[in-house]
Amino acid sequence: MPLRAKVASSVSRTAAALSRAAGRGDGSVIGGWIGLKIDPDLLAHLSAGRAIALISGTNGKTTTTRLAAAAVGVLGRVATNSFGANMPTGHTSALAKAGSTPYAVLEVDEHYLAQVVEATEPHVVALLNLSRDQLDRAKEVAMMAQLWRAALVRHPDIRIVANADDPMVVWAATPPATHDQRITPPHVTWFSAGQRWHDDSWVCPECGSTIQRSGEQWWCTGCPLRRPEPQWTVDDEGVLDPTGAWYKVKLQLPGKVNVGNAATALAVAAEFGVRPFDAVPRLGDVTSVAGRYAQVEREGRLVRLLLAKNPASWLEAFDMAEQAPTLLSINARDPDGLDTSWLFDVDFAPLRGRQVLITGDRAYDLAVRLEVNDVPFQHVRTFDDAVRAVPPGRLEVIANYTAFQDIRAELDRVN
Ligand SMILES: [Zn+2]
Repeated sequence: MPLRAKVASSVSRTAAALSRAAGRGDGSVIGGWIGLKIDPDLLAHLSAGRAIALISGTNGKTTTTRLAAAAVGVLGRVATNSFGANMPTGHTSALAKAGSTPYAVLEVDEHYLAQVVEATEPHVVALLNLSRDQLDRAKEVAMMAQLWRAALVRHPDIRIVANADDPMVVWAATPPATHDQRITPPHVTWFSAGQRWHDDSWVCPECGSTIQRSGEQWWCTGCPLRRPEPQWTVDDEGVLDPTGAWYKVKLQLPGKVNVGNAATALAVAAEFGVRPFDAVPRLGDVTSVAGRYAQVEREGRLVRLLLAKNPASWLEAFDMAEQAPTLLSINARDPDGLDTSWLFDVDFAPLRGRQVLITGDRAYDLAVRLEVNDVPFQHVRTFDDAVRAVPPGRLEVIANYTAFQDIRAELDRVN
């Protein structure tokens, strides 16, 4: 690395360590910020010489990144931003902290994918899904797909691992129809991890016609865009690879959603030459991811934390949660997005028949939604009140971003 980059990297590590020592989180944002101030090309310098995978999408990227890092770990040391700092500051900090590693697996905020592709020149990019998130400030789904596509067209050598079940992702992963021979077709591997949420992809991003669905198939009624045949699929608590071989995937993470994330992770690792046979056992070692899925004993209750940030991820959380008393917590602070009208896009009917408790800054918004949805509930002021309100046994907690962090703090920042 050039001298400036070496200095920037060293200062970045020190700043992050000081911030950690001061009890201000893991320090990766401030460390990366200072490093990039000293050397604006620091991320590119730190990426040089590493084989890198970038993982992006609206939902599931933190968990998939953790699983993919575990899988690629078969080959050697892997740098990763495991605390979810998924913007260039976080990537810079993660690579500076890891020192020299042959591999890196980085979670990337969907808005920054183009920028991070340019800086890191990745070997593989995984595209998980696109759905609406943070109504008051996130880009429209179709606009995000357009940005992804434009970024990837400029780099036809990047291997793409993409979700065949999401029309927006499929469109973003395939280059525009063109007679320009300079644009060679990208190397795309399709996976199918299922998709519960369809409400952001009824309109074709190519031609504006309606997208129709039947079973797992989907197709545009006005142009050739349709579901490609996936090479990696989820089947019966296991994953089928492109040769048709089936691997049982025994995870400590709940739900079919995570078997899908495991399939994606195996597909990403395969792009580096990792065999599923070698990677699968490592996936089973992942217990929780930055507090998500963590289980904590509290006054005789086994509390499990599930994060749900947007409509698509609420549906997934209902799938992961067991039939047990469930606490829902909603805030609308800056990191959550201030608009809670999305609550009316989520069908809470799967919670009928369970004891449902609600809390959080915006518990009353949730109360109105549950009332309309015919789901009985009880309002509690605090997390401890919720614990005391349910019988000994399991308590599922589903919370959006800052509500999740509040409860995680009450549980001593459980990881
Ligand atoms: Zn179309």
